[in-house]
Amino acid sequence: MDEKWMKLAIEMAKSTLGQTSPNPAVGAVVVKDGRAVGMGAHLKSGEGHAEVNALKQAGDEAEGATIYVTLEPCSHYGKTPPCADLIIEKGLKRVVIASVDSNPLVSGNGIRKLEDAGIEVTTAVLKEEALQLNEFFFHHMKSKKPFVTLKAAMTLDGKIATESGDSKWITSTEAREDVHFDRHLHDAILVGSNTVKADDPALTTRLPNGGISPVRIILDTQLSIDSSAKVLTDGAAPTWVICGKGASQERESQFTQADHVRVLRMEKESIEIPELLSVLGDEKILSVYVEGGSKVHGAFLDQKLFDRLILYMAPKIIGNASAKSVFNGTGVEVMNEAPGLIFEEVKLLGRDLKLLARLEER
Ligand code: NDP
Ligand code: ZN
Repeated sequence: MDEKWMKLAIEMAKSTLGQTSPNPAVGAVVVKDGRAVGMGAHLKSGEGHAEVNALKQAGDEAEGATIYVTLEPCSHYGKTPPCADLIIEKGLKRVVIASVDSNPLVSGNGIRKLEDAGIEVTTAVLKEEALQLNEFFFHHMKSKKPFVTLKAAMTLDGKIATESGDSKWITSTEAREDVHFDRHLHDAILVGSNTVKADDPALTTRLPNGGISPVRIILDTQLSIDSSAKVLTDGAAPTWVICGKGASQERESQFTQADHVRVLRMEKESIEIPELLSVLGDEKILSVYVEGGSKVHGAFLDQKLFDRLILYMAPKIIGNASAKSVFNGTGVEVMNEAPGLIFEEVKLLGRDLKLLARLEER
């Protein structure tokens, strides 16, 4: 029975993925005498936690009940008072937890507080599912850097554009809708300056029913993209242009005339990926969806600074060597230097294949 109720709590949390960052997605179900008497999820950073919402619905029924929570209840004063205190105050008898919060302010303290108050606590129910659910959150908590996904749409021969630079469209609408959902799930989307120059992309989330647009990050050492580029003028989502130490101040003032644009200057003349990831981690970007092009993907690949690779493969062939491939980095000289990847998922989307692979170790 514990798993049944926890599954429901996880489903609720799952439905809020992409909208709670930098907080984790959390779901809670209050159960009394085999009936659900309250359900809730955390909907947005700064707003009520899942436990608060579920307990509000349970009202007086909370007394003597069991609460199923996907993440250890918080024990510290953040933007809201501690949930562990609320659970004690409402007289719950038992708390079932899927994953322990790795936030050092919470880790184990929530559980201890509940146990000290005489509440029975069970942990690790559907733990793997709960860890998977908040993978970006746990990764950032541990490494202080964002979780990095490299994504590309390619042909069967591994090309991302024709020799003339045409890339609209390689994949079908089904695959492109999947990409838009992934944009909604991530905190930031990242491309190189050449992609902006070649395609002038909007880089927003455009799903049939809306969705959240991530921060748009452009790697542009000299602030060389056209000041009329959509990402600089449309105000549709925040845009952060990353540049080298020596980039023109005048260009910076031009770009930042628009309220949604920030320019982030690196410490060196060039943009180094490790420094970039540290800066983004400090800015509370928990996940980055890297959309290319070849040089940017090549840079992340060469340094093995990514966690996951998503390739959409269309049943099309461009057929010459001069068209751009997914990766244009230094590459490896011998096969056994190639980064070890493990396929995790293969799916047919419309007429395209979606391939998901993970780096064996990082
Ligand atoms: P990129 O879009 O990868 O941009 C590369 C540029 O980014 C560099 O030349 C550099 O320019 C800047 N940059 C800054 N810092 C770094 C860094 N650390 N590592 C790498 N680049 C950095 O260029 P490509 O020409 O390789 O690819 C563009 C093409 O890819 C376009 O034709 C586009 O249509 C296609 N494309 C296809 C996609 C697909 O999924 N099919 C997706 C995205 C693009 P600077 O010196 O100015 O900073
Ligand atoms: Zn809480």
